[in-house]
Amino acid sequence: MEDIGHPADGPADDGTEEFDLCDHCGQVVPVRELLCAMVPDSSALHPSDPDLDGSRVLTACGVEHLAELVGQYRRRPFVPEEQWAGKICRALAGQDDPVPLSLVARLSGLSVEQATRGVEWHNARARAWRARYGGPAEGEQ
Ligand SMILES: [Zn+2]
Repeated sequence: MEDIGHPADGPADDGTEEFDLCDHCGQVVPVRELLCAMVPDSSALHPSDPDLDGSRVLTACGVEHLAELVGQYRRRPFVPEEQWAGKICRALAGQDDPVPLSLVARLSGLSVEQATRGVEWHNARARAWRARYGGPAEGEQ
């Protein structure tokens, strides 16, 4: 007898099944059928655990799409400054008042030099974005 198909007892006791999307094609896939891989990605921030920053979990509907996704992230440069900028943005999300750089560094778990480079990276990206798409010039907000 061949073992083809799904287990006879079904996906869940209560009859519900969880679904997620393939990161490549967007297809809705039952979670139990998804394939996953973790890749380095300097733009990835974990919502609660800073030790997991810089790693992205990819989900795919099948081997080919997972391989395509992994290849995309292998070709994407890992830029430490991008990760530091993300940590700073997360740390400052609830702050309304200006914060000294030394405190920014402490809140985001970075050295002052890392925080400085992260802020510079973020500002350079913001300038490039304004130059390309328009918007208030620096100091005009
Ligand atoms: Zn897919």
